[in-house]
Amino acid sequence: MQTQLEILRQLSKRYGTDKDYIIASGGNSSYKTADYLWITASGSFLGKLQDTDLLKLSRKKLAKLRSKNYGSDARKREEDVKNDLVSSMTDTGTNKRPSVETSIHDLIEYAYVIHTHPTRVNGLLCSNQAESMTKKLFGEMALYVAYQDPGYTLFKKVEQGVLAFRRERKRDPKLIFIQNHGIFVGSDSPEEIIRLYAMVDETISKEITIYPDVSQRSIDKQILAIMPEVRNMVSKERLMFMKVRNHALIESYLENESLFEKISRPFTPDIIVFCKSRYLYVNVEKNSEKILNALEKGLKKFQSDYGYLPKILLVKHLGMISVSDNEKYSEIILDIFEDLIKISCYSENFGGPHFMNDREVTFIEEWEAEKYRYEMARKT
Ligand SMILES: [Zn+2]
Repeated sequence: MQTQLEILRQLSKRYGTDKDYIIASGGNSSYKTADYLWITASGSFLGKLQDTDLLKLSRKKLAKLRSKNYGSDARKREEDVKNDLVSSMTDTGTNKRPSVETSIHDLIEYAYVIHTHPTRVNGLLCSNQAESMTKKLFGEMALYVAYQDPGYTLFKKVEQGVLAFRRERKRDPKLIFIQNHGIFVGSDSPEEIIRLYAMVDETISKEITIYPDVSQRSIDKQILAIMPEVRNMVSKERLMFMKVRNHALIESYLENESLFEKISRPFTPDIIVFCKSRYLYVNVEKNSEKILNALEKGLKKFQSDYGYLPKILLVKHLGMISVSDNEKYSEIILDIFEDLIKISCYSENFGGPHFMNDREVTFIEEWEAEKYRYEMARKT
């Protein structure tokens, strides 16, 4: 068993340390036998898994979640599911919680399952041609699942697809693509997992002619000069940390309102967890005083419209700025938002960006489990 769990750790590390697959605490991974499932705890970083991040669950107990009727009240349902997941754990001496995607892992009858949110794959899955192109490129091999709210609803939809696939092809899908979310890759062989991930990336890359240009731009002196003032503006309630990033790709989307439009909403639940769903863009250039004025006005309007301080500020020609009350998080927020921009860029190869809709966004914003994951990741 130790060997298999070590292999799972290696696989998790391989994808968890590659920002093209997983940023921060995104994704999850598992290994199973007939009786037990080992899965990464909610909020753990796949790139640096600790022994305590792998939770062991009884598959007999997990199976009960599949047929139970949790009712239609989303909040109560997710709370009950969460409790049932926790009580499926064999070890009760931990305050860690199994990933909300545990039931999907349990469902797939392959020993190893690695779930990630790869940038290029999401370029396809967050595009207007997500379904048609995924089916065209991966056809019979894969299962495509249209967007669902994460948690039990998503599980039920994946279950429906997997059972139909199983009936038809007498085996489980090794590739499951989920719109505006990411991919599940499963196999009994760890080598095959690696081969499948490489094949998926190659197949999608063959369709790509528009690539993000991430050639570095030096950070403009102007933005450094205005930073202390901006920090004052966002630190009215408590001291905030800020970080700036700029490169050709970021700058290209800050040229005007209609380009900003293409990066103005979240593509995936993970983006909302880290960066929220609205971002402040200031289309003013050259004059520092004018930029500061626009930011001050923009911040006021933003807060009165959406009720929170933006985590991402975007200033024409100067780049993006993260705002966070946690220093370590200011870098992760930039990574996640940069990923959003790359996804938007890749989606141009597949008919352009397809954002989550307002109802889907609201569901995530109100979802307690996601808040918990954010809190856990902050402590790591
Ligand atoms: Zn996911």
